[in-house]
Amino acid sequence: MRILIVEDEPHLAEALGQIMSEQRYQVDMVHDGADGLDYALTGQYDAVVLDLMLPKVDGLEVARRLRAAHVSTPILMLTARDEVSDKIAGLDCGADDYMTKPFDAGELLARVRALTRRQGEVIGNTLSAGDLTLRLDARCLVCGDDSVRLGFKEFEVLRLLMAGFRSVVPKEDIIAKVWGLESDAEDNNVEVYISFLRKKLAFLHSRTVIGTVRKLGYFLEVPEP
Ligand code: CA
Repeated sequence: MRILIVEDEPHLAEALGQIMSEQRYQVDMVHDGADGLDYALTGQYDAVVLDLMLPKVDGLEVARRLRAAHVSTPILMLTARDEVSDKIAGLDCGADDYMTKPFDAGELLARVRALTRRQGEVIGNTLSAGDLTLRLDARCLVCGDDSVRLGFKEFEVLRLLMAGFRSVVPKEDIIAKVWGLESDAEDNNVEVYISFLRKKLAFLHSRTVIGTVRKLGYFLEVPEP
């Protein structure tokens, strides 16, 4: 899990970084809204913890621009207690959840966990994205009336792409999560499974496609007709 923290108060930023790192999240930290936007626009994060009042570009505007750019990374907005009315504005602009400062570390982590689960839509034993439904118990991919069984690694790779629907999933994350950090799997392994999956999407006549961002990773989207 990779988390971006955008917080301009040095002590709070440091505390947030520590809380996340202890949970073995990979953390990137920036201290103003302009950097926050640049980093988050890469789409490589599983969640963004975004302060509301920030130098250069405020949190609301960062969230708005991310959503305008179709970056769907979940956003947890942090607000001071006296900014309560901004909470509603925060959710309107594309933030997924908010917390008032000061906050409890346990609650923060619980909310980040909830947000990172929410991408793609998990209903019962299925995960849906675009016109695809993945049956998690049967490793079966369904599109309309057609379905196909997936091999174990195909299933794991596609599950990551569907969970991060429309966001770029970095190759190194795919390797770490599917093959394991200790493995000597390389980019080629990922490419092979991506090509298997593309064939299966074509077989299903799915409108959902796997896009490539060169040297970075892959994303799932439904292109405009
Ligand atoms: Ca602030």
